[in-house]
Amino acid sequence: MIVGIDLGTSNSAISVWRDGKALLIPNNLGHVLTPSAVSVEDDGTILVGLAARERMVRHPAATATCFKRYMGTQHQGFLGGRMFRPEELSALVLRSLKADAEAFLGEPVIEAVITVPAYFNDIQRKATRRAGELAGLKVQRLLNEPTAAALAYGIHQLQDDTRFLVFDLGGGTFDVSILEIFSGVIEVRASTGDSRLGGEDFNEVLVDAFFDKYAPSIGLTRKEDSSLLYQLMRDQAERARRELSRSPTATMSIPWDGKSWDYEVTQDMFEELSQALISKLREPVLRALRDGSIRSGDIHSIVLAGGATRMPVVRKAVATMFGRFPSADLNPDEVVALGAAIQAGLKSRDAALREVVVTDVCPHSLGIDIAEKLDGGIVREGVFSPIIERNTIIPASRCNQYSNITDGQFRIRFGIYQGESRLVKDNVRLGELEVPIPQGPAGSVVIECRFSYDINGLLEVDVTVPSTGVTRQAVVLSDTEPIGPDDLAQRRAALARLKINPKDQEENCVACARAERCYEQFLGEKRERVHRLLHDFENALAGQDPREIERVRDVLHRGLDEIEGERYL
Ligand code: ADP
Ligand code: MG
Repeated sequence: MIVGIDLGTSNSAISVWRDGKALLIPNNLGHVLTPSAVSVEDDGTILVGLAARERMVRHPAATATCFKRYMGTQHQGFLGGRMFRPEELSALVLRSLKADAEAFLGEPVIEAVITVPAYFNDIQRKATRRAGELAGLKVQRLLNEPTAAALAYGIHQLQDDTRFLVFDLGGGTFDVSILEIFSGVIEVRASTGDSRLGGEDFNEVLVDAFFDKYAPSIGLTRKEDSSLLYQLMRDQAERARRELSRSPTATMSIPWDGKSWDYEVTQDMFEELSQALISKLREPVLRALRDGSIRSGDIHSIVLAGGATRMPVVRKAVATMFGRFPSADLNPDEVVALGAAIQAGLKSRDAALREVVVTDVCPHSLGIDIAEKLDGGIVREGVFSPIIERNTIIPASRCNQYSNITDGQFRIRFGIYQGESRLVKDNVRLGELEVPIPQGPAGSVVIECRFSYDINGLLEVDVTVPSTGVTRQAVVLSDTEPIGPDDLAQRRAALARLKINPKDQEENCVACARAERCYEQFLGEKRERVHRLLHDFENALAGQDPREIERVRDVLHRGLDEIEGERYL
């Protein structure tokens, strides 16, 4: 059984290919989306998913979210007295999904297809694969998110030359990709986006509008002056924005200074306020069309992915941009996971799926640094020599020849880089490789450098000196590679030793965390009511009768729904 996993910045999901179709697997709480959040309680117990996200407001220092942004970097989060690397936090999310899938399927889950953004570089892809390994998964394939979204819309069943544009607006990132199917091969023709644009920015627009209106009366000058107020505003903005996806108006209602500050937003106002963000959606789309040399009329369908494309303002903007409506038959925040399950089905050669090879293009150029001789004998170092160019279909293997630049040089060192800049200092360094060469006059020794980029977007470099037959090879490990292979087993064991909150406690944890957050956010009668609800629930927990606990937990959630509005994922 191979599962498909969308390891998202805000939310993750797991799915499986079953009875000829892709099926999302609900987590222990019955939700198909699991927030990509990890929190550590005072006693060291680790919470993952909604329970962790609920703790974000009250325990920001013990809670981590958005760690996907740091994948492949040295950045570490310090939670509950322990450092966590981004791939370890991701591994905890993956482990939780794996456990949910095992409970649902009734069998062990080992193999997985995990999706990554199309623009993820080699380091970020390796970190993702390592996250899978740390979670005890065998990562059969890293699949580009837009390719997964296109699979969910059946691109693999369409005729040659069909092109899809995938418009993916998530919580904090915006990705545009153009895909094409030809002879059973799906190719990413172009991939652009804005790594700092997503649903969160639309929340900020509402926060600003609210704050502009009430700041003088509230007596604050900057929205960050009170972090509690800021959290409340953001929370209400998120609710209002979701409400606006189904009704024409929504109200942000914030208890502050013994008063409730209400702000009604209409669809039109929201659209007006979002203009600057909406116009930022345009540029990457145009760039993708330009990069892929494709006219908008040549796009067969526009696929929406990412929860933020549920917003009518965004759908309208897309329709205006293309002069037609996007495909929206599937829930946009589920399409990537669904596509991952289809890829898993293809991997297991399910008869219901036509044989297709899903391939991608290389998102960034890959090459080495060279030195150039300029007129007057000046040597300029650090010049980028691309070997595999951006948008080359992968798997790809390319070889370039180089020669020694100084007389009597006895070794040559290649720095390996990824990027588009002419000077390597502006590109991403992936690693280096050194070979001994026979001494001779400048320009006399030929050295061949071959780059092979595999289907998962992982790079291998071979350097050969034909005259001596000496070869050096590296699966590129960057200098910034956070974990060496030996370390992996040790790290996996360390993660396995962590005390994870048991799944059967999860619903209770979510309920407590939500109530505690509400207690902090509200005042007066509402706070009093939260206190009573929580008190009753704690009593029920102490009584240890599962049916009673469930009943009182429902009462608690219903009470909190009345106080703060319905729960959202
Ligand atoms: P990611 O790919 O970043 O992990 P998702 O695809 O799950 O994230 O998208 C998360 C974003 O979707 C959040 O910003 C959330 O506010 C937004 N979102 C989810 N549902 C809705 C809705 N009904 N209306 C508006 N925005 C929504
Ligand atoms: Mg996503």
